[in-house]
Amino acid sequence: MSNTPEPEKPNPSIKKIDWSDFRDHIATADQEGRRQWIYPRKVSGPFFRWRTWFSWLLLFIMFAGPFFTIRGNPLLLMNIPERKFVVLGQIFWPQDMILFALAMLVFLIGIVIFTAVFGRVWCGWACPQTVMMEMVFRKIEYFIEGDADRQRALNRAPWNAAKILKKFSKHAVFFALSFLVGNVLLCYIIGWQPLYQIVTDPPAQHVTGLVFMILFSLLFYGIFARFREQACTFICPYGRFQSVLLDENSIVVAYDYKRGEQRGPIRGGHKADARRRAGFGDCVACNQCVAVCPTGIDIRNGTQMECVHCTACMDACDNVMAKVGSPRGLIRYASLNGIERGERLRFTPRLAGYLVVLTVLASLLAVMIFTRSDVEATLLRAPGSLFQQMPDGHFSNLYTIKVVNKTSREMPVELRLENPVGSLQTMGQGTIVVPPQKLYENSILIELDPAMMKSGTTPVVVGVYSGGQKIQTLKTAFIGPRN
Ligand code: SF4
Ligand code: SF4
Repeated sequence: MSNTPEPEKPNPSIKKIDWSDFRDHIATADQEGRRQWIYPRKVSGPFFRWRTWFSWLLLFIMFAGPFFTIRGNPLLLMNIPERKFVVLGQIFWPQDMILFALAMLVFLIGIVIFTAVFGRVWCGWACPQTVMMEMVFRKIEYFIEGDADRQRALNRAPWNAAKILKKFSKHAVFFALSFLVGNVLLCYIIGWQPLYQIVTDPPAQHVTGLVFMILFSLLFYGIFARFREQACTFICPYGRFQSVLLDENSIVVAYDYKRGEQRGPIRGGHKADARRRAGFGDCVACNQCVAVCPTGIDIRNGTQMECVHCTACMDACDNVMAKVGSPRGLIRYASLNGIERGERLRFTPRLAGYLVVLTVLASLLAVMIFTRSDVEATLLRAPGSLFQQMPDGHFSNLYTIKVVNKTSREMPVELRLENPVGSLQTMGQGTIVVPPQKLYENSILIELDPAMMKSGTTPVVVGVYSGGQKIQTLKTAFIGPRN
């Protein structure tokens, strides 16, 4: 009997690696990491048309957004220097940070659920980067330099007058547009009125504002003129997350390999039926899907990190299918299970879990927003101060009071010392009137009779009243001598 081990049988479920198809580097770089410039071909088709209309709507919202107001407040304002944030007309102050963080969490989980179900629909249809790049800058490039082949030829051509004119006009328009986009972004940070002030006042009065304006313009010019799809591939964290958010039930832009393979060029007048009888699938290996892809990938290799779901390959392939007489949808919105097993979209336990978390957080957020007080006050001992003894023997402590008025109307506020008995004086004025959506800050002096004080530290309670109604109770400590 021989002891020679039996040769291992090949496992039929393990596919052999097709090394010609294997890639260990992104599509926009060669194996040494050098940038490969992408020249996507112009695309046409129903998806592109719908995306174009949707982009016009989004661009209108983006450019007109700073001028829209809700109850006198902008739609969106992220005023970091003044620590004031407005979302859909609701003002959030630093005191509302928990609310703001919760709102961000709800937003993020919403995105997670949306991505788990619909893949990167956001990237292809609504992301400002894709909308500006594909619907504005790319179209200008096509208009000035022509389609992909002409762009390639122009880049290879020597620097003659025609090339200089085309390149100069393209980059001048790109910079002017970037300047506009940079200013719109600045409007979302400081508001359009201060920006108008910066633009109309002498430059020397707003050096910081002008520096930011130029920096933003250069940043956007760099992104749209040079960096382009790399922003989605390298910088955007959402793109990186998709590999953990997607599963086999997520709807993605997918190539139906069951229908498409074995791919092969169309020969003579071969119709679809004849091709199938000859062992071919519907993919005619025309590479149109690759030629139009703005990230330079071949969707026939499956879902990939670079794919922004722009639908260009779907339109391109549908056009080819129409020409060769095969049904559309060889590349379409579908899930892996949909393609492999013909399954429809399923409500998975993972999705149910996400939805439960989202519902709980959204309810909590709603409760917090509806129970949020209109006025919020904080009372802190003045830094570095101790206590003072007055000529009448009473002791005094100095405090800083901050009152935020979150409403759009003036708010008269009164502070009353409620415990222990003593006196409270606001520096400089009797009644506090907090202007709408402003922060009021002042010093107050509390005086106590030594008989009312404990040794060392005495707890103090101050009531905040508006219109005779108590709106908040503040607690602090009064420092006095130790017995
Ligand atoms: S466009 Fe369609 S037919 Fe042409 S290579 Fe791509 S998948 Fe195949
Ligand atoms: S693979 Fe298709 S959907 Fe994905 S980025 Fe390329 S063209 Fe757009």
